[in-house]
Amino acid sequence: MSRTSRLGRSHPGPEWRVSHRAARTDWTDTVERCAACHARVDMRDDHYQMVLDRDVDGPGKLTFERQRVVFCDESCADEWSQHV
Ligand SMILES: [Zn+2]
Repeated sequence: MSRTSRLGRSHPGPEWRVSHRAARTDWTDTVERCAACHARVDMRDDHYQMVLDRDVDGPGKLTFERQRVVFCDESCADEWSQHV
């Protein structure tokens, strides 16, 4: 489950639900793009993350898929989530 930074996509869709959202600072040397305003977000600076889950029908069991979405701050996250 390491492919969590597929960038440049549009909104993931209504089947995704927000399982977690929090302001955070990561000690990783990575720059990603805000999903709402596409500004550069340095993971080492204060930013905001949302974790989205989606149910997936697997063979004989229900499992789920997870992705992380990065924002510059909470207001961008709010703006983005209103498009669901
Ligand atoms: Zn933003």
